[in-house]
Amino acid sequence: MSRMQASVLGLLALACAKFARAKIDESNFDAARIIERDVAIIGGGAAGTYAAVRLREDFNTSIIVIEPKNRLGGHVDTYEVPETNTTLEYGVQSYMQYGPTVDFFERFSVEFGSFTSRRLATINVDVGTGKTLDYTSPTLNDTTEGLKKWLQFVEKYDSLVEPGFWNFPSPDKIPAEFLMPFGEFAREHKVEAAVPRIVTISGVGVGDLQILSTLQVVQAFGLAVTKGVLEGTFIQPKVSNSLLYQRAYKLLKDDVRLGSTIQETERDSTGVRIVIQSEKDQAKTLIKAKKVLWTPYPSQDNLKPFDQDAKELQVFKPWTPEWDYVGVASIPCIPENTSVQYMPRAVEPSNHLAIRDYAYFLSLGTTGPSGLNLFRVMLGANFSLTYEEAKVIVTSSVQKLVQAGTLNHTGDCEVDIKALSAHNGVLWPRESEALEQGFVQKLYSLQGHRSTWWTGRSWCEEYSSNVWTFTDTVLERLLKSLA
Ligand SMILES: Cc1cc2nc3c(=O)[nH]c(=O)nc-3n(C[C@H](O)[C@H](O)[C@H](O)COP(=O)(O)OP(=O)(O)OC[C@H]3O[C@@H](n4cnc5c(N)ncnc54)[C@H](O)[C@@H]3O)c2cc1C
Repeated sequence: MSRMQASVLGLLALACAKFARAKIDESNFDAARIIERDVAIIGGGAAGTYAAVRLREDFNTSIIVIEPKNRLGGHVDTYEVPETNTTLEYGVQSYMQYGPTVDFFERFSVEFGSFTSRRLATINVDVGTGKTLDYTSPTLNDTTEGLKKWLQFVEKYDSLVEPGFWNFPSPDKIPAEFLMPFGEFAREHKVEAAVPRIVTISGVGVGDLQILSTLQVVQAFGLAVTKGVLEGTFIQPKVSNSLLYQRAYKLLKDDVRLGSTIQETERDSTGVRIVIQSEKDQAKTLIKAKKVLWTPYPSQDNLKPFDQDAKELQVFKPWTPEWDYVGVASIPCIPENTSVQYMPRAVEPSNHLAIRDYAYFLSLGTTGPSGLNLFRVMLGANFSLTYEEAKVIVTSSVQKLVQAGTLNHTGDCEVDIKALSAHNGVLWPRESEALEQGFVQKLYSLQGHRSTWWTGRSWCEEYSSNVWTFTDTVLERLLKSLA
């Protein structure tokens, strides 16, 4: 066979292989239903919105954002209290003045001020019975001392985990403290008094805080957030947290597909093809992009239509799901200016580390405006929970307070859930064995694999400021791969 014949055969074989694999048939789409872009961005939350603005506006890169909800903003949830001019934030609360955060707000002329949380009288109750617990929380001084010790620790290793885990050491060089179960670490380093504050802000460790690897607590509560708490430097937009995303949407509108879900995908080193479907008219659109940037949590459910290969499956399959709901409820029987914290009895008399030794936690805290008995609901569980089941836990937990005589109230208490939003996710494999087997390296080796880049809270520390800072490091690499 001549060299020419061989190369023709080679090319034919390649074309056939591609044809055999290709399942998305382009001829099914009218020209108007085919979108070509440099980068397809999956998810329009904190990471996706930020990446879209940066890529299109600052790096002259064409984009399309695919978002299943009918708004941008992800974990931001703003409730407009009817017949008042008040809005309540029941998802994301506040931001750290860290990384590109302030610039990002200023870019959209979003005014912000210092974040102050309401001072509430706390009632700690037994999650099982609703009875008041004989639990003494750490004093403010003790909490601060604990946080200062935690700060020293996270400061020492910050360059390994922030921004992102690009420089995370190979398994044999991982700092021993990262691999310790957090309970053991906290006792040894005397940070127990900081634990209630750490878990209240981050929500980390539902059901397994004490056995969780310390690295995962660092991921949930790293240097920037620890400093923010100690220095009191959190900020909050003056109008609402949603304003940033409303303005970003106005800017990006033509390049955003809201109410759209991925149906199927083909990815390889030459590019990606994604079929999306609009919830509104069920119409399908084909997106052809050089690269794709994935930002939502990488659960198996979410990734189902994303054409995972064996390498990706091996990394993403063992993650642990978590169920999180936040909402606003009117609860007339709980006095205003109160925070009710449901905890396991094991915290008595002052075992702070046991605070998450239960399969779920619930907190109800007054939001104002006064006279309306509105409470912010936070419910986190390590078992699967539907919206209806979440509502049942909230209402029955309030009834427990009444039945246990914890409140000065008799008869039923009519709980009216005004808003409830799911913030479920998946977390890295829980125990340290995965880290010792090179989990972080395997995860990060997916960056750029099959024209796919990854960002969002699953890849870095989880606050918006960390996510934005990390996203910049991904974009830098993604742009190089486009060049
Ligand atoms: C209840 C709660 C409160 C928080 N409070 C704060 C806070 O006060 N301050 C702070 O800095 N951080 C807070 N966080 C952390 C928060 O995770 C980050 O601030 C930030 O929202 C993470 O951005 P992200 O883009 O990774 O995820 P998200 O903001 O959740 O964005 C992901 C987006 O992807 C979309 N999506 C999901 N599945 C798919 C799919 N299959 N296809 C396409 N799109 C999909 C989602 O609808 C969403 O819009 C909070 C988190 C929670 C859960």
